[in-house]
Amino acid sequence: MLGKPLNMMFSLDSGENRGLYFEDTQRAIIYVRQHETLPDLYKTMTHEALHHCFKELELDEKDTLDEDMEERTISWLQWSTDGLVFSDVDEEEEEDE
Ligand SMILES: [Zn+2]
Repeated sequence: MLGKPLNMMFSLDSGENRGLYFEDTQRAIIYVRQHETLPDLYKTMTHEALHHCFKELELDEKDTLDEDMEERTISWLQWSTDGLVFSDVDEEEEEDE
């Protein structure tokens, strides 16, 4: 079953945050001026979208992520797209072959 849609908004206000996700209203705000490059901006958009995905997942009670676990998981997912996560494992597997 599809979850609720995410509303992603962009703000030119300055502030401390790069992006915020509001669980209750399924809304994300991306603070454009807090980014130095376009890829940097894309990372924040993905980050906030992943927060929404985790909230929309129907998890068992035991599978619930706390805030720290969710932030770490999102960070690993983002790094994995650059091929920088688990690179050691790949190298070991290649040596065994
Ligand atoms: Zn976050």
